[in-house]
Amino acid sequence: MYWDRSVETLKAVALNQLQLERLRETVRQASNSPFYRKRFEKAGLSAESLKSLEDFRRLPFTTKDDLRIQGLKMLCRPLKEMVRLHASSGTTGQATVIYYTRADIAAWADLVARSMYMAGLRPKDVFQNMMGYGLFTGGLGFHHGAERLGALTIPAGAGNSLRQVQLMLQFGTTAIHIIPSYALYLLNTFAGRGLDPRGLPLRLAFIGAEPHSADTRRRIEAAYGVKAYNSYGLSEMNGPGVAFECPEQNGMHVWEDSFLLEVIDPRTEEPVAPGELGELVFTNLTRQGMPLLRYRTRDLASYDPTPCPCGRTHRRISRIRGRTDDMLIIKGVNIFPIQIEQVLMAMPEVATNYLVELTRQDFHDQMHVKVEVKESFFKEDLKYLQGLKRRITEALKSELLITPRVELVEPHTLPRSEGKAVRIVDRRG
Ligand code: ADP
Ligand code: ZN
Repeated sequence: MYWDRSVETLKAVALNQLQLERLRETVRQASNSPFYRKRFEKAGLSAESLKSLEDFRRLPFTTKDDLRIQGLKMLCRPLKEMVRLHASSGTTGQATVIYYTRADIAAWADLVARSMYMAGLRPKDVFQNMMGYGLFTGGLGFHHGAERLGALTIPAGAGNSLRQVQLMLQFGTTAIHIIPSYALYLLNTFAGRGLDPRGLPLRLAFIGAEPHSADTRRRIEAAYGVKAYNSYGLSEMNGPGVAFECPEQNGMHVWEDSFLLEVIDPRTEEPVAPGELGELVFTNLTRQGMPLLRYRTRDLASYDPTPCPCGRTHRRISRIRGRTDDMLIIKGVNIFPIQIEQVLMAMPEVATNYLVELTRQDFHDQMHVKVEVKESFFKEDLKYLQGLKRRITEALKSELLITPRVELVEPHTLPRSEGKAVRIVDRRG
């Protein structure tokens, strides 16, 4: 049941002790980087003087801009010791680059293997990795993890839907790694071939890389006949394998032997209480090449320190609500895109794709939501469709507190991406 029982079930006191030891080692390591050396001097912090995790809070946060500007100044080992680099997918601006030593790659693979094993992947499984390979960490991260675990790994990569289905049929795929919006989209390809994925040997799906609602997960589970596990990571902290769901599916365990977690109020920068939404801040505890300390992810979630029935002691985080920088302000109201998804995916008539367009007319924000409706419902008469449109509008209004203009469209008519879904088009200039 455990990949690494002693680490995964470490009691809080021992876990904190381990974190402190590793933090000291990380500070020692990071002193080799010009960027952090300067910061440590300014904060009067050294590996020797670090007596508690509280001491560590004197260190300023590291931001995405630091990474963009400082780049190579953040390396803690000579460039010649690095064997790989990855870049974030650049969803929110210029991509950031992370360098890895051989040991970093091995440690990362082990964390991903631990995560997948926790969710039930075993060496006998056939694992089809449907994430982009390349600079994006989702593909290679899971690839190495699955090989480390010993599963037969199919490096399918992203997109090419027909081929994905063919590979599944040919090799008897039992587990997939897939972006949730793409998992819903791929159902069309099955349907188009008259195939039902529930008839396949598939039993596990790892879904992550973008915010998605509980209903989206449920839809994927029902349509594919699998258990789907939420997977969280970011290139700045290796990539996938930072936090992952266990069979309880009640939040994602953060691997606290490898990442020091803080959850802060993004405005006051003070820690928030359990259950409160805040920004995730991570510190690498085992990375050699380019450890990041107190890195502000901009991802919003809450944490839960209560014991998990699975026996793992590492704290859990909630679903990612969104990023601090993808919050929309529409007619003065703060809205996260995930709120729109929550409403739409809870409605059985709604198919798998939608698009939100924001415009401004005479200084007034307009929100236009295009929603794909399932074939069977779209065939209904006009009166039915008008009623449905009204219901969707009402549901969105009660969640968002503003009234969008809803348009029902036929299935497969909205644009889609093979990577992270692009659901919001902001034309307000
Ligand atoms: P980019 O910032 O360019 O998207 P990455 O490819 O490193 O860079 O993606 C990491 C980001 O993807 C995270 O910071 C988070 O915003 C998002 N993400 C990753 N996994 C999940 C998940 N399970 N749920 C929600 N969002 C996720
Ligand atoms: Zn658990």
